[in-house]
Amino acid sequence: MSTPGPLVLVIEDEPLTRRLLRPALEGQGYRIVEAATATEGLAQASSYNPDLVLLDPGLPDLDGLDVTRRLREWSSAPIIVISARGQERDKVAALDAGADDYLTKPFTLGELLARLRVARRHVERLTPGPEEAVFEVDGLRVDLERRQVTRDGQEVHLTPLEYKLLRTLVHHADRVVTREELLKEVWGPGAANETQYLRVYIGLLRHKLEHDPARPTLLLTETGVGYRLASDRARTHRTRLRPCKL
Ligand code: CA
Repeated sequence: MSTPGPLVLVIEDEPLTRRLLRPALEGQGYRIVEAATATEGLAQASSYNPDLVLLDPGLPDLDGLDVTRRLREWSSAPIIVISARGQERDKVAALDAGADDYLTKPFTLGELLARLRVARRHVERLTPGPEEAVFEVDGLRVDLERRQVTRDGQEVHLTPLEYKLLRTLVHHADRVVTREELLKEVWGPGAANETQYLRVYIGLLRHKLEHDPARPTLLLTETGVGYRLASDRARTHRTRLRPCKL
């Protein structure tokens, strides 16, 4: 008997999007539970305990941010927000409320599937085994146990703050981390608004780690939202995108 695929809860009031998502995700081995309202979605979440949640924040009854916060009170399932509103402040608010990722409609099926895989890997990473102590991508190697960073085999010397920032991004590799999250984690809760620290330190890291600091391929800026550390696997997935608009 084969293992059942991950269970995705789709909270979305547009029937057309749900109709497109179901066969697309089932075709990839996911199981689907659907809800058309926030109330129904929260009820389904507590009955089924899904592995992943796709959430449209524009629901008829509750605001998507409230749904995210309510889910976060007890569930650690990754929440990917799928929204027609692609404004920076909406993204930041969703991520700060506890969502893991944000996709703006229209998005491709390939993009959605890649984000689902990343979200699943992130969950697996929260319980790291010994093999997770080393992160490698494109010539960059971060040994978290020995606190050693190498670029193309050469050791790179980082200051304690630079290392802390890099380590935080490694922990969330492939995932966008908001500026506020990074500032709190690296500089402490009092520094949540000091975005200039980040600009400076990301710049310093890029000079030490990127082949071309002006055109970064590792430490990526998510404009107005935060930063994302790319990984090889994410890049491999990106080449497989299919132009199937949802
Ligand atoms: Ca909607």
